[in-house]
Amino acid sequence: MLIFRGRNRVTSGYRLPDRPGHNGLDVVGDDSHDVLCPVSGTVKSSTMITNKNDSTWEWGNYVRVDDGEGNRLFFCHLDSRAVKVGQKVNPGDRLGVMGNTGYSFGAHTHFEVRKSDGRTTIDPAAYLGIPNAKGTYTEGKTGWVQACKSWYWYEDGAPVMASWRQIDGRWYYLGPDGRMVDDLQTIDGKEYFFFTESAGGRLHGEMAQTDETGALV
Ligand SMILES: [Zn+2]
Repeated sequence: MLIFRGRNRVTSGYRLPDRPGHNGLDVVGDDSHDVLCPVSGTVKSSTMITNKNDSTWEWGNYVRVDDGEGNRLFFCHLDSRAVKVGQKVNPGDRLGVMGNTGYSFGAHTHFEVRKSDGRTTIDPAAYLGIPNAKGTYTEGKTGWVQACKSWYWYEDGAPVMASWRQIDGRWYYLGPDGRMVDDLQTIDGKEYFFFTESAGGRLHGEMAQTDETGALV
């Protein structure tokens, strides 16, 4: 998933020719200013460095989340931070509010992804599953998304998390209206989920295939 509900407007990409030294993605949330965590992880920093001898001051208020897969995610220039160090976060959890703190000219979120060595950066657009190019990308998916080896049901771009249950080695999904997915089957190469209505009828829907970043494949 992306870092804002609704429209995510990329104003500066990762190491594009017009700005080769830019190691992150600058994103403006046009519909919501809440910065959401795109994956599961653990908050490792939630701070603002004010000592200008430390170049980290440029990030202003920032939050670092480690995804458990060897990547460090940085969300920078926040107006305010909503998480504490050590806190576990899930996709869609609010990390803070987009802002203009640090070395920033206009409210946006600088999103950067580094490997566990703390220095090597990777393409944060690819991490989110969008092109590394200026443009507006809309979060609003409804369907199955696999992120960090777990399946999540997304409704209007928001993962519905608490409703998963694993019983006897099988995953069951309890929907917001109480419906439970009780079967996942592959038919003619497509995966379908099935759930039983309280009235006893049987409904089904198509399951989206994604990679572990949540991008459709
Ligand atoms: Zn930036």
